[in-house]
Amino acid sequence: MITVTTKKLSSKQLIIQGLHVSVEGQEILKGVDLSIGCGEVHALMGPNGSGKSTLGYAVMGHPSYEITAGSVELVLLDGKRVDVLAMEPDERARAGIFLAFQRPMAIPGVRVADFLRHCVTNVRNPDRKEGEELMPMREFRSELKAKMAELSIDPEFARRYVNDGFSGGEMKRAEILQLAMLKPTFAILDETDSGLDADAVRLASESIAKIGGDQMGILIITHHEQLLEHNIPLKTHVMLGGRIVESGGPELAAELHKKGYERIRAAYPEAAAAEKAMEDGRVEVSST
Ligand code: ADP
Ligand code: MG
Repeated sequence: MITVTTKKLSSKQLIIQGLHVSVEGQEILKGVDLSIGCGEVHALMGPNGSGKSTLGYAVMGHPSYEITAGSVELVLLDGKRVDVLAMEPDERARAGIFLAFQRPMAIPGVRVADFLRHCVTNVRNPDRKEGEELMPMREFRSELKAKMAELSIDPEFARRYVNDGFSGGEMKRAEILQLAMLKPTFAILDETDSGLDADAVRLASESIAKIGGDQMGILIITHHEQLLEHNIPLKTHVMLGGRIVESGGPELAAELHKKGYERIRAAYPEAAAAEKAMEDGRVEVSST
């Protein structure tokens, strides 16, 4: 007899629940809930110092960011839940999670092409051990060349040392190229627009739209709605004082871009007080 299973396939999900994160003993994130489905674009906005980058680092597993409560899980197509917090950062990358840094590090002596070949090989062969063979050079080169052409990146770029002497704009383009080559399931793009002029932001916005699609969930951290021009968010989330205080649609991003955060601060006085305490570098004493 043939049994037909009718398990419904939904999209993969990245689910963050009640996340509390401390840096150097000071609590920065105070209970963040956020779920992103594969194929969805979400925007995360908020004033400087509200904890947006902290969320990115915590999800990626940066050792300075201590998780004191909450969970980060990947839900796979078969419904299996994977505990992201139990993984090392490289395992998280191999599991399909990617963070484009707000301030990427320079790696003098390592060429962009070699760096990418390593990353791509590791992410595509999650069981690869260091020292084992890399993706064949010819195959890698032709793929890299095609991606660079698609994203209007000068071929010379591949021969330069990673972020060494790069302008702000070049660093962001290097992050976008990484995103295009790695094709993660979930990408967090931390202010990929900061330090760019309007034309460069438009190009970044178009590039991200080309790379994304129904196989990728993207969290775009930004201050400006321009990066969202070609990546209309399903939801916009506002972070203040280490919490997501409000979520809405694309119109919320437009409002914040135009009017700033005064309405938000007035509407959520407790979070505004936490923001003030974080600014002053004081450890907020929780009342609960
Ligand atoms: P945002 O990205 O929203 O501007 P951040 O996550 O960078 O905010 O910072 C939130 C708060 O955490 C700030 O008060 C900042 O000073 C503090 N913080 C973040 N990272 C570190 C760190 N590595 N060392 C010390 N303090 C940090
Ligand atoms: Mg930041």
